[in-house]
Amino acid sequence: MKKLMLVLVIVVLNSCKTEAQQDENAMDFKVQKTDSEWRAELTSEQYRVLRKAGTETPFTSPLNNIKEPGVFACAACGNELYETQHKFDSGTGWPSFDRAIENSLAFSSDRKLGYERSELLCGDCGGHLGHIFDDGPKETTGKRHCINGVALKFIPKEN
Ligand code: FE
Repeated sequence: MKKLMLVLVIVVLNSCKTEAQQDENAMDFKVQKTDSEWRAELTSEQYRVLRKAGTETPFTSPLNNIKEPGVFACAACGNELYETQHKFDSGTGWPSFDRAIENSLAFSSDRKLGYERSELLCGDCGGHLGHIFDDGPKETTGKRHCINGVALKFIPKEN
């Protein structure tokens, strides 16, 4: 009987592992790097947000104040994600946009706060960017992309 239990435990543990691995592989991102490569390339805060789905402290990102024309690219892989013309002041303390550059994102979902949220990922490297909500500007898309500034780098438009 004990042996049977042990076998069952092993089977259950293995099936959990397989499921988790399948989840991770579910999205095939163009940019693939190992955890230690990301750790070496990113700052610790970038790594915490982009690779571990962390959240930066609101009102801390210098990108909150950017109003000049340009593009916001993924800080991990350089994929161009957002444009200044679609940025708006949401009052949340995180850089906010009403839409992304077409086909630049991937979507997932999480229940970290106890309810379902749509998570926004970089479409090229899978890095965690933030979340999307339906309380954006009504006069445009009605969407609010709530993005961690540390996950982005700003590239001013050349004149
Ligand atoms: Fe990326």
